[in-house]
Amino acid sequence: MKIFHIPAFADNYIWSIEKEGKISVVDPGDAKAVLNVLENQNLSLEDILVTHHHYDHTGGINELKKVMQGKVYGPDNLAIEGIDVALKENDQFTTLGYEFSVIETPGHTLDHISFHCHEKNVLFCGDTLFSGGCGRLFEGTYQQLFNSLQKLVGLPNDTKVYCTHEYTLANLVFAEQQISDQEISNYKKNVEAKLNKGEISLPSSIEIEKKINLFLMQKIPNDLKHLLPEESFKELRIRKDNF
Ligand code: ZN
Ligand code: FE
Repeated sequence: MKIFHIPAFADNYIWSIEKEGKISVVDPGDAKAVLNVLENQNLSLEDILVTHHHYDHTGGINELKKVMQGKVYGPDNLAIEGIDVALKENDQFTTLGYEFSVIETPGHTLDHISFHCHEKNVLFCGDTLFSGGCGRLFEGTYQQLFNSLQKLVGLPNDTKVYCTHEYTLANLVFAEQQISDQEISNYKKNVEAKLNKGEISLPSSIEIEKKINLFLMQKIPNDLKHLLPEESFKELRIRKDNF
C-alpha cells in the first residue's frame, strides 16, 4: 500500500493512499493542499476518510466533494457536513480495494473513530494516538481516552501508525522529563535528526509506541507506579496539558 503525506496548516498531515492514479485522503482539513497534489501529480480523488469533527480535519470536505468520485466515510455525527457513510465500531468499508475496519476511539472528541487496515497493517488514528503522546481531552473523559488507547495498543506490533499531527518531538521532550529511559532518549535523538533533515517522524508503529509512549501505560514513571493505570494516565495527561 503506497501512502504519502500532504502537509497542511502548521503541523497537520493529510495522509493519502495511492493506487493506480487515484488517491483516497484522510482528514483533509485544507482542500487547497489536496487539490494542488491532484493537479501536480495528475491524480484523481477517490474517497475521503474522516476521523472526527475538528475543522483542521474536515475543512476541505465540501470543496473536495466537487471533484471526487467516491464517498466520504466518517463518524456518525450530523455536525460534520458532507459525510456519506456514517460509521460505527467494527463497520467495514473498502477504498481503492483496501478493506478498513472502524475502531471507535472517543476521548479527544466523542465522535472520534480510527481506521484499521488489517491486511496491510495500517492504522489512521487521527488525534487519538500521537507518536509519543495522545490527543488532548476536548469532549470525552479520561477513562474514555484511556480505553481508546488501550484498544489501539492491542493491535499487532507491526501495525504502522499514521497520526494527523507532527507532535512527536514535543511529546518526547515531555516524556524525557517524566521518566529516565534510554529507548525514549535514543528515539528522541533519532526524531530530531530526521526533522533536521526535513523528514517527518511518521509513520510510527505499535511496537515503537509501546517503547516510547507513556500514555500507552507500558512504561510508568516511578512517581506514578503506586496508582492504577487509569489514574496514572489521568495524571500524565494533566501534566502534559500544563507542560
Ligand atoms: Zn482534533
Ligand atoms: Fe487535529
